[in-house]
Parts: sequence; structure tokens; C-alpha cells
Amino acid sequence: RKVDLVYTRVRTEEKLLLEALRRRDCAVNLVQDSGMVLSMDRQRVTEADTVLMRSMSFTRARYLATFLEMKGLRVLNSARTISLCGDKALTSAALAAKGVPMPWSFVAFDEDACLEAIEQKGYPVVTKPVLGSWGRMVARLDSRTAAEGVLSTRFGTGGAQDHVALVQEYVDKPGYDLRVYVIGRAVGGLRRRSEHWITNTARGAVPERYEVPVVHAKLAEAAAEAVGGDMVAVDLLETRGGDIYVNEINHCVEFARSIDETNVPLPDLIAEYVASGAGG
Ligand code: ADP
Ligand code: ZN
Ligand code: MG
Repeated sequence: RKVDLVYTRVRTEEKLLLEALRRRDCAVNLVQDSGMVLSMDRQRVTEADTVLMRSMSFTRARYLATFLEMKGLRVLNSARTISLCGDKALTSAALAAKGVPMPWSFVAFDEDACLEAIEQKGYPVVTKPVLGSWGRMVARLDSRTAAEGVLSTRFGTGGAQDHVALVQEYVDKPGYDLRVYVIGRAVGGLRRRSEHWITNTARGAVPERYEVPVVHAKLAEAAAEAVGGDMVAVDLLETRGGDIYVNEINHCVEFARSIDETNVPLPDLIAEYVASGAGG
């Protein structure tokens, strides 16, 4: 199989994926996203049959996947999956459409309307940018004054495309959240423990081993299916009462910070999936 690995930076993940693909006799080309210029026609741009999309930029990943699919390539993850997972409001809508359990949430487009809706729900609530990752700008609002401050920033800065607020139920987690890797099927997972309520490893949470129970595996697979994800990391929030919700779905699976605690060889599983010809 001929694979183009599209990247922004060659991080540990991309190095390991490259090695794993080559071990499976895939001919891999590294293609930097910033250098790609794609014409709007069906003209082929590569010898490859498959594109492994590892761009760290949502803008680039979404457009490149769309155009490469238009040119007849199998792209992992698909443009649809990237579009849905990269935007948390669209992820929530896709999950809701399939009845996948998640924290209640709403979107609002105006400061006053949003504040009123939050007041009706009561505090605390969580708000986060619809586009974003690594826990950046995720905020818990414990009071009306906090909500006013965050919403005035959300709606008073940036451009029209930034003026959307995603508000969610605050899930009182038992000190960690859970991540299930779905590579065609649920293959393994990771617990992320933190003193802080934001449990991204990029924000200092400690990765721990986690044997994924069947109910969690099934939930993660349902979430992946709702967005058509071939290879995704599904984040789950457990409540202190033992309920379980899907929080988000990451389309560009990261694992460098937790390689020792993740109980499965993700680069090999991803390479196997790529080589199998499934998905796209
Ligand atoms: P990102 O894409 O930046 O990782 P997330 O939605 O995953 O955004 O939020 C980052 C972290 O914040 C989560 O891993 C979780 O620890 C915490 N978090 C996010 N939303 C909620 C919520 N509704 N209730 C409780 N904790 C949350
Ligand atoms: Zn994320
Ligand atoms: Mg997350």
C-alpha cells in the first residue's frame, strides 16, 4: 500500500507511525501540510492510495481531507469525521443524533441569551471554545459574575466565527477522566488523573493504566460510529454516581505522553488498520 502521511510537525507520534507503517511494507511519503496546494479538480496529486491525516491544524486537516477525498483518495480519518470531531458543537449534535450519552449541552450566539440560559440551568457549568484542544480556554463557571466575565470575553473579542458559546453540564468527576482508543474497534485506553478538574495530560494530568470494561468499549465504539471515526480517541467522563458520558472525540490520536501507560501498541494498530484498506 502507498501512504502519504500528512503532518505539521514530525512529533514522536508521527515517527512511531512512520516506523510502524514501514514495518508493514507500506511505502510512506511524508508530506508537510503547509506546502500543499490542491487544485479543485479530480486530477491526481500523488501516487498514494491512502492518506494518513496527521495535520495538527483543524483548518488544514479538514480542507485537505475534503479535497483529497474529492481526488479519489482514501483519507483516514475522513473529512466528515475531522469536520465533526474538530468542532465540539458538531460533535455534540452527532452524538445526540445517535442517542449517545453525553453531558447536557447547548450552544448560544449572544451574550445575554447565553447568560439567561445558564441562569436557568444553575451553576456550575462548563464552557469551552467549539474549536480547541489541550484543555485551552475550557472554563468552569461557578457564579453569575464568573459567567459574565467569560461571556463578555467570548462575545467581545475575536470575529463573528468566534461568537458561539458551547455550555455543558459540569460533571463532577472522581479525580480522573477516561480515554478509549477506537482503531476500527475499541483497542485500549488510558485513565488521566489530576488534582485539577481539567485532566488533559498536556495540562499535567498523570496517565494511568486502565483496563477498558466492555460497557466503556461499547460506548466509545458507538461514539466513534456516530462521527464515522476510523481511528479516534474517545474521552469519557465518569460521574461520582457511576454514570458515564462521552465528552469529546479526538480525530488526530495523540499518545506520546502516555505511551508507557497505554496498554496497547497504538502505532502498530493504526498501521495495521491503514494497511488493511478498511475505512475512509
Ligand atoms: P480539549 O479538546 O481541550 O481536550 P475537553 O472538552 O476534552 O477539551 O476538555 C478538557 C478537559 O476538561 C477534559 O478532559 C475534562 O477533564 C474537563 N472537562 C471538559 N468538559 C467537562 C465537563 N463538562 N465536566 C467536567 N469536566 C470537563
Ligand atoms: Zn480535544
Ligand atoms: Mg479533551
